[in-house]
Amino acid sequence: MTPDHGPLLYEGKAKRVFCTNEEERLLVEFKNDATAFNALKRAELKDKGRLNCQISARLFERLEEANIPNHYLGLSGENWMMVKRVEIIPLEVVIRNVAAGSLCRESPIALGTKLIPELLDIYYKDDTLADPLLTEARLEILDLLSSQQRIDLGNLALKVNQCLKPFFEELGLLLVDFKLELGVDYSGQLVVADEISPDTCRLWDLDISDANDRILDKDRFRKDLGGVIEAYGEIFKRVQGVCTKPRNYK
Ligand code: UDP
Repeated sequence: MTPDHGPLLYEGKAKRVFCTNEEERLLVEFKNDATAFNALKRAELKDKGRLNCQISARLFERLEEANIPNHYLGLSGENWMMVKRVEIIPLEVVIRNVAAGSLCRESPIALGTKLIPELLDIYYKDDTLADPLLTEARLEILDLLSSQQRIDLGNLALKVNQCLKPFFEELGLLLVDFKLELGVDYSGQLVVADEISPDTCRLWDLDISDANDRILDKDRFRKDLGGVIEAYGEIFKRVQGVCTKPRNYK
């Protein structure tokens, strides 16, 4: 069911963001579109929007319980979420517990290498530039963040990892890496925004050793492994087992 909403504010690859009758609230619709490799690869995956929305809602509620500020207010339908309006910082903040993906493509670090402590990589979010990896010096020149916000960003991302890594472990899942988008809310606070789902996290089944069979995230789509929705469904089933009912936004 589609909730009442105002005009479309923004449409991204996987979500649409709508205004509401309250200035400080936005409605996010999770779409079934899947994209990879800077949208060179595209598909429509039935039920992906609902699964990502439902998984994300539960993970945001976990963050909330851990006092980690985020934009989530509640669900407004199967694939709709009410969120706080924030100003998104154009960065992709990636935390890596285990080496995979671009880290292994762009360096000699082997797939599966444990990263202790976890690695924080910050990318500039711009499809036309293919989201380049930033250095601290480049980040400073870009002047997107105050020095305090730079410190807060790192601390926030680490806190999310400290919350979600053990949470997934209890569900038999290894949180390999994940991407966060951060925003600044009306009070100037840095908050976790966007989504946290198998589209934005790498999750491996801890009981499976085969390098492909263990994958339960968007890499199934990127690598043409099949069973994408089944994998997302498996993540949802496990997360739902411990977070039964996320709240509805009234
Ligand atoms: N990621 C994402 N959006 C992006 C790029 C990466 O959600 O535009 C996620 C990705 O799913 C993975 C983590 O961030 O969980 C690290 O991705 P990586 O840098 O390894 O890039 P990839 O191999 O996905 O291109």
